[in-house]
Amino acid sequence: MPPALELTGRTFGRLVAVERSHKDATGAWMWLCRCGCARYVHVRGATLTAGRASACSSCAASMRARTHGETGSPLYQRWRAMLDRCENSHHRAWRDYGGRGIAVCPRWRSYELFAADMGSTFRPDLELDRIDTDGDYEPRNCRWISHAAQQSNKRNNHVIEWRGHVKTVTQWGSTLGIPSNTLVHRLRRGWSVDRALTTGASRDVLLELANEAAS
Ligand SMILES: [Zn+2]
Repeated sequence: MPPALELTGRTFGRLVAVERSHKDATGAWMWLCRCGCARYVHVRGATLTAGRASACSSCAASMRARTHGETGSPLYQRWRAMLDRCENSHHRAWRDYGGRGIAVCPRWRSYELFAADMGSTFRPDLELDRIDTDGDYEPRNCRWISHAAQQSNKRNNHVIEWRGHVKTVTQWGSTLGIPSNTLVHRLRRGWSVDRALTTGASRDVLLELANEAAS
């Protein structure tokens, strides 16, 4: 593998390379870049130097969609929000999406292709939902569901870090032997995470976690 390029401070269109960030799944270096719109995005160094990225995906898409007059459409807003959750580390929900490694598939970085795949089943009262919540945004993992159904899923998929482990409410429920709806209700009533996860939990599992923490 050739040595990583030094791109700090260099400008690529609207993007300025801030710092080398991490390697992606293929071992290529990703750079944290700041776009002219103040969003932060991660872009492959090779993509930058090849001139194939000159703005964050939202700005790039806005420029394209503006020519199609679509930026205000509800479908477009769903698409743009999806990209923001996964690629803008300053987005309020980034921690649960991009920050957990959830990505948008290459095909759907194009609004036109996203609209081609998902447009026919869309209605403005529906939200974009991932079937496997650890999976990416891609055609086989996505569907439209009602806002109410999504809120219920979100509570079950809420990520909790406890005793050195990061799991969703559903995963904690099955690990500890507590129904996930019970956990959701406890947390909504303001129980501490510690009390919510230990009350009625499997003694064996709690002992295991304690031993792990001690070793
Ligand atoms: Zn931008």
